[in-house]
Amino acid sequence: MNDYYPEFPKPEISFEFFPPRSAVTSERLLDAYNGLSVFQPKFVSVTYGALGSTQEGTLETVTKLQAVGASVVPHITGIGSTESQISALINTYLELGIERFVVLRGDLPEDRDDKGAFAYAEQLIRFLRQEFSADLHLEVAAYPEMHPESTDPTSELSHFKAKFDAGATSAITQYFYNADSYSNFVLEAERLGVDAPIVPGIMPIVSYDMMHRFAQRCGAEIPRWLDLRLQQYKDDDAAFKEFATEVVTQLCRDLIDRGVPGLHFYTLNQIEPIAQICERLGFVESDLQKACQL
Ligand code: FAD
Repeated sequence: MNDYYPEFPKPEISFEFFPPRSAVTSERLLDAYNGLSVFQPKFVSVTYGALGSTQEGTLETVTKLQAVGASVVPHITGIGSTESQISALINTYLELGIERFVVLRGDLPEDRDDKGAFAYAEQLIRFLRQEFSADLHLEVAAYPEMHPESTDPTSELSHFKAKFDAGATSAITQYFYNADSYSNFVLEAERLGVDAPIVPGIMPIVSYDMMHRFAQRCGAEIPRWLDLRLQQYKDDDAAFKEFATEVVTQLCRDLIDRGVPGLHFYTLNQIEPIAQICERLGFVESDLQKACQL
């Protein structure tokens, strides 16, 4: 039973981490995983390439998290890679017993224009399905508010559908603060014949400037009312945190209400923002509730 929202069961949840760059941040990542593991995630995913991280950094983080008992899902990006590089990477992960991946196109660095063998995620999915076991679980990215490069929602949706025609299993979305954009995207995808789970990605709001920086990069819309309210709290740390936590918690409640198959939290490698949201959603049973069930 949930403390704050008793009528809803806990959906499946997952957490996303990025590879740390130093021994200190590596320690913090493990602390974050340990702190958040009380919420019993189905899996934790580890990004690749984001914030300049390397393939080795991702692999190292995956093995560290596996060593402390996590079920880990690595991200793989195709752009700029050859088929043999991708095959070697997948074989390394298969040897570690990993069969689930978040499969992305990724973005080329500004100083490169060689797209390699995989110009789009769809091609990478098709390759993985041809070369490897049918048992692989392949997650792809979805953009309820449209990918930043997209100028045409119809082709954006048909490119999304093409990833499932190529063999994707399920999807995780870019974050958003408007639940209607998610519902509309799911409806449109269903109309095209996509009946796979589309799990919303949830981004906590930890700072006003960071919120805007991220949103600009990935095309997420900051609703005017939210922007204005957060501006109001900018100089009051406690009030900002309380308001931001409640807004994102309310978004999760709304999404659970709409029947989402799960929630994927972008942790930013921190415990506090996500732990507070999960606690408010009542995702951890209190000692009293546990005792009542004995
Ligand atoms: P695609 O699905 O290939 O789509 C990219 C764009 O191309 C879309 O606009 C699409 O409509 C268009 N398109 C697709 N196919 C075609 C076609 N045949 N012809 C013309 N246009 C086409 N980035 C990282 O670098 N590392 C990560 O770890 C990472 N993790 C992510 C996790 C999630 C859940 C999400 C939502 C994004 C993540 N990203 C990551 C960002 C992602 O790599 C970028 O958004 C990238 O620009 C697109 O990747 P994609 O897999 O969505 O590409």
